[in-house]
Amino acid sequence: MVNSKLFRNFALEKERNGMYDVKKVREDFPILTREVYGRPLVYLDNGATTQKPRQVVEAMVDEYYNVNANVHRGVHFLSQQATDLHEASRETVRGFLNAQSTSEILFTRGTTESINLLAFSFGEAMVKEGDEVVVSTMEHHSNLVPWQMMCERKGAHLRVIPMTDEGVLRMDALEELLTERTRIVCVTQMSNVLGTVNPVKDIIRMAHEREIPVLVDGAQSVPHMRVDVQDLDCDFFAFSGHKVYGPTGVGVLYGKEEWLDRLPPYQGGGEMIQTVSFEKTTYNGLPYKFEAGTPDYVATHGLAKALDYVRGLGMEQIEAHEQELMRYALERLEGIEGMRIFGLPLTSCSSPLAPNRGAVISFLVGNIHHLDMGTLLDRLGIAVRTGHHCAEPLMRRLGIEGTVRASFALYNTKEEVDVLVEGIERVRRMF
Ligand code: PLP
Repeated sequence: MVNSKLFRNFALEKERNGMYDVKKVREDFPILTREVYGRPLVYLDNGATTQKPRQVVEAMVDEYYNVNANVHRGVHFLSQQATDLHEASRETVRGFLNAQSTSEILFTRGTTESINLLAFSFGEAMVKEGDEVVVSTMEHHSNLVPWQMMCERKGAHLRVIPMTDEGVLRMDALEELLTERTRIVCVTQMSNVLGTVNPVKDIIRMAHEREIPVLVDGAQSVPHMRVDVQDLDCDFFAFSGHKVYGPTGVGVLYGKEEWLDRLPPYQGGGEMIQTVSFEKTTYNGLPYKFEAGTPDYVATHGLAKALDYVRGLGMEQIEAHEQELMRYALERLEGIEGMRIFGLPLTSCSSPLAPNRGAVISFLVGNIHHLDMGTLLDRLGIAVRTGHHCAEPLMRRLGIEGTVRASFALYNTKEEVDVLVEGIERVRRMF
């Protein structure tokens, strides 16, 4: 009863929002017509990387064929045109995140590099022996190991926000973890394993009451929901291009200007300098102070096209589509004998308009090893991820070695959920 009411509410909301046509959208992604092992590909590994629409690939090919030249350095026509595209992409990212200024948008190679940059620079300027860094139980290694490395260098300590068995962060425990020794809180907006959408706005408010800055890892949230860094009031925000339908090798670190101004550069080299002599180097202004060397200016252009693409469909529409898929998948998966789903069950999911679970589902079935399940599903044309998902401490908390993970994107369909469910049933019967 509860579920069918949820679906009805969703259908109404869909109508109001003017949903996109998924069949038509799929035509923008040539790879989705591929067959693997003679079966139509069902691509459910979007948490690892998303497929790319023609609009992104064609813009990059066009830039290589017709514009290519190094940026920021040349007086010649092509260099200026390439620079214009690169800087226009920065403006697109600014608009996408609703940052105040393009000075706050740093291009990196991805979330991992963004967080390493911040952990190094922030650590150098702000962290001393005995200080503390707060992370959560459900962090990806990328938002854990760089902070651990920095803590080791500085003699600081990691503190960890615990979570409930359903994968919800314990806000009462966070209250106690925030002390005068805390220098920064680093937390993911959406778990790549559990799909939990964390209340980052509340976390930021709590931290700010104690004048503690917050980094939000947006690698998994940016593809699925509208992000407004001014509304969140986060101090730093990181994401990867390839997880939001853009190219590999490009990502973003957003930082409030007042913070970035206070932090030292991460890498030295061309572009990040103002003047260099053998005695002393002075640094460039923002954002270039943090962008040593030739950037991947073709990828930044591709990223901008990807962000234009998702904005063209509408982030609310994408979210509504994926929420409906996720609810449908949870309902069907929960019906499978021996099924164990990690994260919030369907009955605990809040209103479709304020989701606290994104379109990522981790599961195990009976005693079937996650690797066996993944390998056999692959033979049926279904691409899922298996293993610890770069979240070993979370696996330890759950008391398991790994899971099978199906992660959904704007182009997935209920028919694909059905293929997944039939595939799992088939594997289950084999064991
Ligand atoms: N953070 C989260 C939550 C992730 O899911 C991932 C990748 O799966 C990363 C960080 C790292 O992203 P990348 O490998 O693109 O740097």
